[in-house]
Amino acid sequence: MDLKTSLDTFPGIGPARAKALKKLGLETVGDLLSYYPRAYEDRTKTHTISNAPADIPVCVSAMVAEAPSLSRIRKGLNVTKCRIVDHTGSAQVTFFNQDYVRHALEPGESYIFYGRLEVMGRHRQFTNPVFEREDRTRFTGRIMPVYPLTAGVSNNLLAGLALPSVEECARLVPDQLPEEICRSHELCGAEYACRNVHFPADTEALAVAKRRLVFEELFFLSCGMSFLRRRRSDAAGRSFPSRSPEEFLSLLPFPPTGAQRRAMGEIAADLSSGKPMNRLVQGDVGSGKTAVAAYAAWVTHAAGAQTALMAPTEILAHQHFETLTKLLAPARIVVGLLTGSMKAAEKKSVKEALARGDIHLVVGTHALLSEGVEYADLGLVVTDEQHRFGVGQRSALSSKARTAPHVLVMSATPIPRTLALLIYGDLDVTVIDELPPGRTPVETYLVGEDKRQRMYNFVRKNVSQGRQVYIICPAVEEGEGSDLKAVTAYAKTLSERVFPDLRVAFVHGKMKGKDKEAVMSAFSRGEIQVLVSTTVVEVGVDVPNAALMIIENAERFGLSQLHQLRGRVGRGQWKSFCVLVTGNRSQETLERLRYFTKTTDGFKIAEKDLELRGPGDFFGRRQHGLPTLQAADLAGDTRVLKEAQEAAGELLETDPDLRAPEHQTIKEKVRRLFAEDGDIFN
Ligand code: ADP
Ligand code: MG
Repeated sequence: MDLKTSLDTFPGIGPARAKALKKLGLETVGDLLSYYPRAYEDRTKTHTISNAPADIPVCVSAMVAEAPSLSRIRKGLNVTKCRIVDHTGSAQVTFFNQDYVRHALEPGESYIFYGRLEVMGRHRQFTNPVFEREDRTRFTGRIMPVYPLTAGVSNNLLAGLALPSVEECARLVPDQLPEEICRSHELCGAEYACRNVHFPADTEALAVAKRRLVFEELFFLSCGMSFLRRRRSDAAGRSFPSRSPEEFLSLLPFPPTGAQRRAMGEIAADLSSGKPMNRLVQGDVGSGKTAVAAYAAWVTHAAGAQTALMAPTEILAHQHFETLTKLLAPARIVVGLLTGSMKAAEKKSVKEALARGDIHLVVGTHALLSEGVEYADLGLVVTDEQHRFGVGQRSALSSKARTAPHVLVMSATPIPRTLALLIYGDLDVTVIDELPPGRTPVETYLVGEDKRQRMYNFVRKNVSQGRQVYIICPAVEEGEGSDLKAVTAYAKTLSERVFPDLRVAFVHGKMKGKDKEAVMSAFSRGEIQVLVSTTVVEVGVDVPNAALMIIENAERFGLSQLHQLRGRVGRGQWKSFCVLVTGNRSQETLERLRYFTKTTDGFKIAEKDLELRGPGDFFGRRQHGLPTLQAADLAGDTRVLKEAQEAAGELLETDPDLRAPEHQTIKEKVRRLFAEDGDIFN
């Protein structure tokens, strides 16, 4: 067995399982070894029934005392039960919908059960524990990895594959970090890291392993970002003559804020510099980035070139299309729309107009990247909410131009300073740190379930004053998580029982583009009073009349995400409110949510989020546009990130082009990390 050994050579892996594994990107032993657990179960200690601590996951060794009995409670709910005993006592074991258990547990045999033991007086009970026969244990006595899963792949399956793979092949994992860096940063070797990230000897070994893996990955990432930055500062670009912005400003229905003016100034300077612009405009939700993008498109048009503006969702693309058409039509700028859900004939005519140069500014989704989209003369590429787009996608759009086009990236996600360099390492940054006048901060409250009725009354009051309301739920369908409010079912309850007299609708990411869009535009026309939604409204949606947002199961959202959501209200002249609803009682959760009710500064919230959750969570969400990372979401704190950045900086200082023979492995590794983005060393 080696790193290239295919997983379908393992016993028990037939075509169906191989296919399911492939969905997770797992085809070879090597893939599996770099597929890291998301959590661990400590199964190192085994307890007796009466000594096992209650309510935390534990291993209990006990004998099955009777044949398990299966009973059908109702359609779709089967329960299997049996008693287990040891010399200290007995407990009841209950399984829901796991009928196979009836034959898997043999009376008279001893097993190790792993799960939470509930203790109610003298009654002890295990619900849905996992178990292994005591004489054939594989995972008992270990810290057991818990992997991210998909349908058809159980954790036991993955752990069962990982165990022999680690044992035989961990030593084959190449050590790509230079020895010198390992030594000076006190990092363990690659083999040790591999063994202990999958089957940690103990918690310290796990921490050491994680640190090494995260460091390694972030080190290569930092090297790559530095390259991208250097490469573009050498490139040649087009120069669009500066024009006084007064003419553009007369198109705006409002005077610009100082920050908008400054951003426009910086963009004008970039566009006329003769080098390709690569600028990030980072401004909190509602800070008015659209007007800034419109300005860039206006300058570009004046120089005779076209602009493409790419939005992450159809909803947003439509919205931008409408806003920009209204704004720029008086300047005779023709705005077009291109999205995936448009009819083929419509798409065709837009594409033709683009190729002829009859459309000056095209707004669209990923469809803009597709083949067959050609431009008469693409001069500027704008991406909105860039964290959803990869470095690679940005460059794919750029490649549709003859000379490197100018690139403007707009983001409302405040990135903590510690991460900014890594994520936007290849961009210049403008921060719009001023909101348009007259905005009052959104008043935010945290309420428990006991206030639900009052909260509904508040919704009603807002609607009766003519305002509109968002209600955000974490899940789309029931069953995605037990107590989570699910959009479809909840919208039904609300419209039938709670607000039968109001116009309630729902929208979520699994709906068809057209349907979503129909709901969203009805909402923005004011035809819908209460919109029940998942986080699809998180990004960019602008309905100034919406003045109240209710967030159900608020504990499920990170601070930065809550901030994004809250930004959907408080966009008009109305006093706006955000109500977080949670049944959660954990001190930590409540403190986090309370912090949010008291703070409106996006950067402060982002820093707090980073501090509370570590950068791992940030990388884990895969919205950053960085190359696919395997280890970075294991990062527990920001220290390792800083160390890796410093190490990369030091190395590139001594050998900026990585020419030295001893740096060739690093160069190769960086090249592979950024492979999706084309060759960054060109
Ligand atoms: P974001 O930065 O979140 O993309 P938008 O560009 O959507 O913000 O602007 C939010 C709202 O503020 C829009 O309704 C827009 O018309 C309005 N707006 C933008 N700039 C100004 C300004 N300088 N004065 C008043 N209103 C403004
Ligand atoms: Mg926007």
